[in-house]
Amino acid sequence: MEPNPSNCNNNNISSSCSSSNGYEHDIIKWFEDVTEKAGSVQTQMLSQILKQNHGVEYLKRWLGDYNIPDMDACALESLFTSVVPIASHEDFEPFIQRIADGDTSPILTQQPITTLSLSSGTTGGRQKFVPFTRHSAQTTLQTFTLAAAYRSKVYPTRKGGRILEFIYSSKQSQTKGGLTVGTATTHYYSSQEFKIKQEKTKSFTCSPDDVISGGDYKQSTYCHLLLGLFFCDEVEFITSAFVYSIVQAFRSFEELWRDICDDIREGGLNSARIKVPKMRKAVLSLISPKPCLASKLEAACLELEKEDWFGVIPRLWPNVKYVYSIMTGSMQPYLKKLRHYGDGLPLVSGDYGSTESWIGVNVDPSLPPENVTFAVVPTFSYFEFIPLHRQNQDDYNCTSSSIMSDDFIEDLPIPLSQVKVGQQYEIVLTTFTGLYRCRLGDVVEVSGFHNGTPKLNFTCRRKLILTVNIDKNTEKDLQLVVERGAQLVSGEAAEVVDFTSYADVSRQPGHYVIFWEVKGEVEDKVLDACCREMDVSFADHGYVVSRKTHSIGPLELRVVERGTFKKILDHFVANGAALSQFKTPSRRENLEEQCRTVEGGAAVRGPLH
Ligand code: AMP
Repeated sequence: MEPNPSNCNNNNISSSCSSSNGYEHDIIKWFEDVTEKAGSVQTQMLSQILKQNHGVEYLKRWLGDYNIPDMDACALESLFTSVVPIASHEDFEPFIQRIADGDTSPILTQQPITTLSLSSGTTGGRQKFVPFTRHSAQTTLQTFTLAAAYRSKVYPTRKGGRILEFIYSSKQSQTKGGLTVGTATTHYYSSQEFKIKQEKTKSFTCSPDDVISGGDYKQSTYCHLLLGLFFCDEVEFITSAFVYSIVQAFRSFEELWRDICDDIREGGLNSARIKVPKMRKAVLSLISPKPCLASKLEAACLELEKEDWFGVIPRLWPNVKYVYSIMTGSMQPYLKKLRHYGDGLPLVSGDYGSTESWIGVNVDPSLPPENVTFAVVPTFSYFEFIPLHRQNQDDYNCTSSSIMSDDFIEDLPIPLSQVKVGQQYEIVLTTFTGLYRCRLGDVVEVSGFHNGTPKLNFTCRRKLILTVNIDKNTEKDLQLVVERGAQLVSGEAAEVVDFTSYADVSRQPGHYVIFWEVKGEVEDKVLDACCREMDVSFADHGYVVSRKTHSIGPLELRVVERGTFKKILDHFVANGAALSQFKTPSRRENLEEQCRTVEGGAAVRGPLH
């Protein structure tokens, strides 16, 4: 039987509640109950996963000789964690490939897997397959309804109101073996659960399915904006999976607003902009001429344009209570722009999960995104935590340029009930979808507890993105440094739109290259100063020492042409990535065209090689 996370160990959420207040009360009560006894709920979850999947090929190697169905949950937990090894996604790839190719024997799960999700993998640059089952859609529903219940305590919204959602499905395809493949968000938006969530929370998305699944993100964005404005008085909050999509949409709005206003005046749809027949039909069936609204919007946009679109959200959507989206981790750099568009509007950071499994929910929505934590939902998967300790950098004396591991020494994994406040961990997942002790690759810090379940602070992806020799810098380190450098251009009425980086070890000494896309004019001498500022802002001891000894060369800042990062996005979307999951790649392979180079303080122009 397909596991139902809300239906185990008497931890049921009542499915009978019809009023949204009833559902809010019920789901919060359910969460309070399962988190009170988070440790034992976890033990039960593991037992349930292992008993359901007893005898599958992957587990047989380690658990084949044991009488799993008759073992009690505690004994099973200690057996499992002592004999089944910690694995990474690569270990599961050959098994998942066989499933994709049509092997229906019980490989990872007893229930046949009929759908695979594509995790974005865009920060690492490579997409990967992850099994997706009904359980995955149900936990998405639970995450969103639970988070909505906590949000509505702090920021109540009008029942029956609308949501301006910048959401996008990518195309679903079939594997050789006939399995459906798409991103997890694509599967979710086409599932029953997506409709149930709207009914339960009594908040309805502005855009119809044919806009969400239109297959062309530019056309979908135009329609999201158009419908969001058509229903502007009814919109209660604005959302997307990752905040990148919201910022991207409002940047487009700066260019599109005239056409959108024309369409609202006429009740029509610009035929050069919107070509997908199904999308046209769906939008045209919803709109009608609204000349007064169009004139009002135009007048507001003319003023907003002069103010560089400061406060566009509250100005055009007067009833919006907050913006809700993932704003942590690699999304933090987009916060500044969102705050500019939001002019003080509350920003509620979205929840924490991955294609592999949902992990935690933001139960303190009033916290600013910089301080947000995620309370682990102990019924979603079986979670283990590998304690991570920073290496003593002085003892670390390796000069190989090929090190792309990281800076941490690991302790043995511990269960959720044993984590400590202030300690950093890598999360390991055992899921209902057939992953056993699989590393997620994220570093989190425990910042406290919600009853018995830890509240996690997302630190960064574990993989280093900048290293030449003994230096070790993560995504987060890079973000902090870019923030410092970007402060110098903000005084010039310019802004850093996006950035990426890589470590160039093709010449000796190796050095870091940071790419910026800048909006506005910045003099070369200011860019020189930014470059120097970033070079001295890396706090990593290995980098500081290596720069002093010249075993790492001066940081190089390259300014790419306007629109380059949009081209990167287009490139990824054209290759099957979904805008909903997109995270700018941390490597340079997809940067194109000419760029201006500011190297070691001296400004030069040159091709990007
Ligand atoms: P994907 O499987 O492609 O959807 O990407 C999942 C990854 O996105 C996670 O492993 C995290 O690295 C990142 N992620 C997801 N949710 C959050 C969040 N709330 N804050 C920061 N990073 C997140």
